[in-house]
Amino acid sequence: MRTRFAPSPTGPLHLGHAFSAITAFDLARAKGGEFLLRIEDTDRARSKPAFEQAIHDDLGWLGLSWPKPVWRQSERLHLYEAAIEDLIAKDLVYPCSCSRADIQSALSAPQEGVTHLPPDAHVYPGTCRGRPILSRRKTDALRLDLAKALNLTGPQPFEEIGPLHPGLHQWSHARLQAEIGDIVLYRRDIQAAAYHLSVVVDDAAQGITYVIRGMDLFEATPIQRILQTLLSLPTPIYHHHRLIRDETGKRLAKRDDARALSRYRAEGLTPGDIREEIGLAHPDCTAVNDTSH
Ligand code: GLU
Repeated sequence: MRTRFAPSPTGPLHLGHAFSAITAFDLARAKGGEFLLRIEDTDRARSKPAFEQAIHDDLGWLGLSWPKPVWRQSERLHLYEAAIEDLIAKDLVYPCSCSRADIQSALSAPQEGVTHLPPDAHVYPGTCRGRPILSRRKTDALRLDLAKALNLTGPQPFEEIGPLHPGLHQWSHARLQAEIGDIVLYRRDIQAAAYHLSVVVDDAAQGITYVIRGMDLFEATPIQRILQTLLSLPTPIYHHHRLIRDETGKRLAKRDDARALSRYRAEGLTPGDIREEIGLAHPDCTAVNDTSH
């Protein structure tokens, strides 16, 4: 069994990242499996070497370890391209030249953005659907034609073992269309594959059997399952965990420097204090307590 933590080096790691990474590490250890670190740096403009180094430092300080070398998505872009070409060959992809403003104005009723998914996750109104791909142009994004994809795969179930919504989940056609729609596979702003595509390619390539991540990505899972099926990739088991929030109930974001792990470390807190802060006891402590009963 294999788990992973897959941060983007676009800011400092905070308590929420610690929760994800420690949960994945502890589960791998408990099951005699392996924990991997993967750097999701396809957004070259926002990814910084200093943040990448800090990821290694912070996780090492927390007591986590992982095999080297660590994969960087920026070094694997050709593999995501190959997956996109595969989907193009299956006639499931169309080019899209819509700007965010175009999309906003085409949505008849302005809907609130799905804030917990990446910005390209707004349900696309389908303006460019059906456009042929004559040649790949830098000014186009590429989108998955969800209706065509569903004709091939149908909705795909996923197994969730997280404590919040355990069980088998399968979204209906209608829900997938209403809440997910024609996702972006290739982003023109970064000139590279989008998150859903690169994450399924890499989870499969690294043999990840358990995907552990925050509840903010729970709704990314049904579309990632469809991509896995289209690309003949195996599917992992999913564990979406609770999100760490600040005292006002807002989920922590990268800009919440106040809760950056490096800041706690500088203030003299220990990794044990961090585990306590986020409610994840060290497994060795649990074992000691257990044997004392
Ligand atoms: N790279 C993603 C992030 O930093 C996480 C991807 C995942 O766990 O599926 O939010």
